[in-house]
Amino acid sequence: MARLICLSNRIPLGPNPSGGLVVALEDALTETGGLWIGSSGEPVEDPVEALRPVEGGPFARMIFDLSPQENEEYYAGCANSVLWPLFHGRTDLMDIRSEFLAAYKSVNRRIARMLVAILRPDDRIWVHDFHLIPLAHELRNLGVTNRIGFFLHTPFPTPLAMQALPNGEEICFWLAAYDLVGLQAERDTRNALAAMVELGGGTELAGGIARMGARQVRIATFPIAIDATEFQNLAEVEFDKLPPGIVKADRRLMIGVDRLDYSKGVPQRFRAFGEFLDRHEDWHRHVSLLQISPPTREGVQAYDDIRAELEHLAGSINGTHADISWNPIRYIHRAVPREMLAGLYRAADVALVTPLMDGMNLVAKEFVAAQNPEDPGVLILSQFAGAAEQMPEALIINPHDIEQMATTMLTALAMSQRERIERHSALMAGLVAHDVHWWSKGFLTALG
Ligand code: ADP
Repeated sequence: MARLICLSNRIPLGPNPSGGLVVALEDALTETGGLWIGSSGEPVEDPVEALRPVEGGPFARMIFDLSPQENEEYYAGCANSVLWPLFHGRTDLMDIRSEFLAAYKSVNRRIARMLVAILRPDDRIWVHDFHLIPLAHELRNLGVTNRIGFFLHTPFPTPLAMQALPNGEEICFWLAAYDLVGLQAERDTRNALAAMVELGGGTELAGGIARMGARQVRIATFPIAIDATEFQNLAEVEFDKLPPGIVKADRRLMIGVDRLDYSKGVPQRFRAFGEFLDRHEDWHRHVSLLQISPPTREGVQAYDDIRAELEHLAGSINGTHADISWNPIRYIHRAVPREMLAGLYRAADVALVTPLMDGMNLVAKEFVAAQNPEDPGVLILSQFAGAAEQMPEALIINPHDIEQMATTMLTALAMSQRERIERHSALMAGLVAHDVHWWSKGFLTALG
């Protein structure tokens, strides 16, 4: 069986690597004697140009190092301050600098050289996410003819937004070096195909194939997923271990769980909750919002700004509405262990998943999987999360419309048990049929 080689910017380390992608790929990697390659995450001066094996673990892993300058320009610069905001509809937050774009190319070129040194002719290569878009192009330049697939974990911008990038057409050209490009949602696949034609000057053929020069690439949707049954079992066990006081007979719990990122729409969510409390005095002391948001990318201005905005909003809403026995918003700026998160989802009556733009949003899927099927909570889901295409039985909202979100909070809190069960069972059936194994199998079958 041909070996599978996965590449991602960060590699799951430790003796028992965990996380959604690991679950998705562990079987394929173990069966094929496959290999996962990624950066060590710790910048070092003058990194050697060779992949280094990581000891132990259920499948082989190799790492490479970035220099402090590469980390600054390629990772913090191009990936996090140019491509992430662009791909999430925030062109206003892009920090375009020629050295960032140059580092993006040179790091991908260096990874390609290191990969070629260990590559076998029948290896299949699966490249993950926006940090590594040029990799296949660099590999082709080195004569690699292996099958190469790419999966983008974020949304794909419109051709118009792509024009905010000085080298938008180059991205299309790089994508054409793959055999298969996978996207999270149909909207992203439409955008990518349109970009290949409008920016890249390519032609769209039947079956989602884009032709550009001598190359043809298939562009298709593969919505990423979770192991729903495993998460359901975890939540059932962990719910019983929650500290006392989380579940209160006379108080309903709404939950939000997001990395602290401007794409997640948390300020809009807080404002909508404030609006809900302004409108419904009868719900005072009978509902609270638990927001869990661990920090990411600290030191980047946009992330410092969102942190300050949320602290201000939470303080102001609590200052207006709290009394001695009730704080409307509990805002936790820390990561919570996955097990406890599963229990908390199950304890919650409503989940607020309200991103302004999101590739998929796995929190939406985890929340549904964690529910007690006989008395499930309600999912409020942004129309701009990729998950909305697969989860129409959630209460779908527009996160820019604060009034609509406040109204929907009441709908969720007042929903009958029968309707909650109906919606939940339809959502759960979708999650079980289209789980993380279905996702990875679907992509790898299409890659061939
Ligand atoms: P993104 O990849 O943009 O962060 P997703 O919703 O797709 O968004 O995935 C986030 C993952 O991180 C989920 O598996 C979720 O459980 C986990 N996560 C999010 N917030 C926290 C938190 N506060 N503590 C622990 N894990 C978290």
